[in-house]
Amino acid sequence: MQSTTPRVRDLLQRASAMIERVDAEWLLAHALDRPPGWLWAHADDAVEAAARERFEALLSRRAAGEPVAYLSGTQGFWSLDLRVTPATLIPRPETERLVELALARLPADAPCRVADLGTGSGAIALAIARERPMAAVVATDASKAALAVAVANAQRNGIDNAWFRRGDWCEALGRERFDLIASNPPYIALGDPHLGQGDLRHEPPDALASGSDGLDAIRRIVRDAPAHLAPAGWLLLEHGWDQGEAVRALMAAAGFVDVATEPDLEGRDRVTLGRRP
Ligand code: GLN
Repeated sequence: MQSTTPRVRDLLQRASAMIERVDAEWLLAHALDRPPGWLWAHADDAVEAAARERFEALLSRRAAGEPVAYLSGTQGFWSLDLRVTPATLIPRPETERLVELALARLPADAPCRVADLGTGSGAIALAIARERPMAAVVATDASKAALAVAVANAQRNGIDNAWFRRGDWCEALGRERFDLIASNPPYIALGDPHLGQGDLRHEPPDALASGSDGLDAIRRIVRDAPAHLAPAGWLLLEHGWDQGEAVRALMAAAGFVDVATEPDLEGRDRVTLGRRP
């Protein structure tokens, strides 16, 4: 019967009892292949059976804990629309702070060389490449699957000044030297209970955790980065709110100068940076 065909508003109302309203809107828009804003003007539209089935399937996966970004396959970051898969970390707003700090250290209208280690979906590398068209940006990842997502994201966002290399941290950089190296490496301690909660349960473990104190990857990057930086080149690392002091100490011990930690929007230590003398 026509009158019982559920409308957009009915589906959202029912779904809101199971998952957050904003997630329900995102997933319904995805099932309908429309931008989320479309729903507002179409609350009374009937939803055809095929779209309803797609929505119900997404809804039960979300209710079971799968991240919205993996269900819709996309995540906004900076001015980019990024594809994400379970092979990549879901880019976080905190990481936009790292991008800002990097841009403040890069010339706006001169060529420069930038590396993003462990690029995942390409978030950091592609945001910098977009904002600095004269920069040559090298994005690395040890994961072949992640690198394929990053390459697709460069194409999807029309970015042609980023290059992709597979390998561990600085090893992927060969003999080149960079004006700035940025990374959001894994920094959670193995065994941290947060790894068993929320979206983190579904993200690649290698992208999240790094050794018993969470600092294994950071130690390696700080040790190896000086050999890949031009004189006065910058290293910027994202890390956990309680790791600022430890990362500053590592950078100072490796000979970096002007070492400082910058807070995120919530005022917590988030990015530590330093310069090669
Ligand atoms: N660089 C990517 C990001 O910031 C991936 C980081 C990671 O996997 N640890 O989203």
